[in-house]
Amino acid sequence: MNTIQITTPSKNYPVFVGPNAINKLHSVLRNLKPSPKNLLIITDENVGALYLDDVQQAIESSYPYEVIQIQAGDDQKSFENYFACQSFALAKGLDRTSVILALGGGMIGDLAGFVAGTYMRGIRFIQIPTTILAHDSAVGGKTGINHPEGKNMIGVFHQPEAVIYSTEYLSTLPEHEKRSGFAEVIKHALIADQNLYKMLRKNICTIDDLKGEHLLQALIRGIEIKNNIVTEDEKEKGIRAYLNFGHTLGHAIESEVRYKGITHGEAVAHGMLFALSLKKETAHIAIELKKWLNTLGYPPLPKHLSIPSLINRMKKDKKAEKGTIQMVLLDRLEKPYLSSYEAEELEEKLTCFFE
Ligand code: NAD
Ligand code: ZN
Repeated sequence: MNTIQITTPSKNYPVFVGPNAINKLHSVLRNLKPSPKNLLIITDENVGALYLDDVQQAIESSYPYEVIQIQAGDDQKSFENYFACQSFALAKGLDRTSVILALGGGMIGDLAGFVAGTYMRGIRFIQIPTTILAHDSAVGGKTGINHPEGKNMIGVFHQPEAVIYSTEYLSTLPEHEKRSGFAEVIKHALIADQNLYKMLRKNICTIDDLKGEHLLQALIRGIEIKNNIVTEDEKEKGIRAYLNFGHTLGHAIESEVRYKGITHGEAVAHGMLFALSLKKETAHIAIELKKWLNTLGYPPLPKHLSIPSLINRMKKDKKAEKGTIQMVLLDRLEKPYLSSYEAEELEEKLTCFFE
């Protein structure tokens, strides 16, 4: 079992990562002060069907618990489900000592974390991530829900008590979800660890290679990189923005296709290729990366995307300033920086990228 200690100005907490990490749940709960009156497991229907029994066993009937299962899919990270969870928590008598267990991928982690961060002005929660992508989303304390006007528009910073990352759960992920999460691992490698990037290029030749020790090392390094950045900049006033590498265009693509037909990470992969192609110093990395992503089965850009409307969405990005669009670029591997573009200039570059 590997333990990574997360340190942020507001809280320190452990990430347990490896096969059967779920066995740690009981001792994590036992060490909580005050002891929880009861627990609420929030999960989605796919994950619940696969792993709810396992988590219930890990609680070992030591604590009363309630379960709420919501439908799967990022469109479920909604105000309606947020409100339903709050109502359920009130109806089941959760109080300020209660603890929420977020069992699922980033969708559940963000939603359950936001429920925990706001129920009675904030109660404790534990992340039990079940996707590769969640090596990113379960660490760092960002929680929230989507608004029809945009993703993650409503939320709070709320750090978990612990992250319990049982890697055997990842084996049942559909391939496109593995690709989605792996794109975030590649992002961490490109912005902060060229050795990791080289290791992955060498060893991950098909999506099926994402297992065992290589996957574990990728998750551990990804979490450490995210931790290093979040430790320095918990509330995203500076370098935390580098984690948005690939996300300005990625988010625009996702919302343009209404979150259907392409996963978050697959959209971010296109965003990273675009960002790398913007500078001649990194254009060769874009070419290599594109070949690698193709062999791993990453889908091409969705058809019939409107470039002006992508640009409009990029202008609405939370990080956009006064009509200009902020992009994270790389000077070279491990050297991210922020760059501002006028919308017209970026529209031209995006047109070339799409050709
Ligand atoms: P997700 O939680 O929607 O999971 C993807 C799909 O996989 C779902 O259908 C789910 O039911 C299924 N699934 C989950 N675990 C499974 C398993 N072990 N076996 C089989 N199926 C499984 O998506 P995600 O990719 O994990 O997370 C995406 C979300 O994370 C987005 O909402 C994004 O905004 C958010 N995010 C948040 C942060 C953050 O810092 N808070 C960072 C990155 C992404
Ligand atoms: Zn992301």
